[in-house]
Amino acid sequence: MISLGLIGYPLSHSLSPRLHTAALAAACLEGEYHLYPIAPEDGEGLANLTDRMRQGEIQGLNVTIPHKQTVMACLDDLSPSARAIGAVNTIVMKDGRLIGENTDAPGFLADLHRAVPKGFKNKNAIVMGAGGAARALVHALLSEGWMITLAVRQADIPQAAQLIAALRGRTDNSVRSVLLDVDNLKPCLENTDLIVNATPLGMFPEVSGDPWPDGLSFPPNVVVYDLVYNPRETALLRQAREEGKTAVSGMGMLIEQAALSFEAWTGFRPTREVLFQAVEAG
Ligand code: NAP
Repeated sequence: MISLGLIGYPLSHSLSPRLHTAALAAACLEGEYHLYPIAPEDGEGLANLTDRMRQGEIQGLNVTIPHKQTVMACLDDLSPSARAIGAVNTIVMKDGRLIGENTDAPGFLADLHRAVPKGFKNKNAIVMGAGGAARALVHALLSEGWMITLAVRQADIPQAAQLIAALRGRTDNSVRSVLLDVDNLKPCLENTDLIVNATPLGMFPEVSGDPWPDGLSFPPNVVVYDLVYNPRETALLRQAREEGKTAVSGMGMLIEQAALSFEAWTGFRPTREVLFQAVEAG
């Protein structure tokens, strides 16, 4: 009997139990996926869960907001990508040691390649937001030679500057930041072939939210990717479709990162189809 689970807070809307229960069935493994809501300040609760994994009571854990950074103190080591991104979303036991992994970055790339199999001409991206998901995206895109413009609101300029400073040595000015408004974004649009929303704007229940500035048209041939997956068609994606652009929901990334976590725990990679059916069935 395999025991898996998710640490975060709050967790009531999580799709992970459905995804991993379907993965367990596809792998013909008997097991369960539990939700472990741990309040932001509950360090003891976090340590208790990682100890249970150390003792073999739990075989795999996912980690989400607000613990993607704080959980690192409870682990023995980090994978190179989790270290570079500065966030853990998956904990794996390897040779008796708890290792923090990050499957968000490869999950995003896998879904991007699936959605746009012919690839991109210019590899110029605008990423809106500078939080945990934006960090994972920046690392993913840099690994494939992209130039990235982080578009952030005024209050997030220091956060974006920190992200860029942490990349020193890895990139020669491949990442810059601008304010997320019409005047500052307009000059960046030429040759942009990917726009990504890495802010929570548009997420249920505030579905009218849209980070893209009013009155700004998308550039020609751009792909618009929204990390938000609930609803499947956000206000941003609807605008992109109405302008005839390729619009991609974050549901694919959610599925890919889950498949990679499950593979890291069990050695079995569930198919996208099995996982898609599991979320559709809900
Ligand atoms: P986060 O760490 O809280 O970062 C969100 C970023 O957006 C921060 O820079 C935040 O600024 C900024 N932001 C918030 N409200 C904004 C606004 N009104 N205008 C402009 N910027 C704003 O969250 P995260 O973990 O990066 O997640 C971001 C989104 O991606 C969430 O909706 C999450 O569900 C989604 N996500 C999806 C997947 C997937 O598999 N599809 C994976 C990871 C995340 P402040 O820090 O100043 O608030």
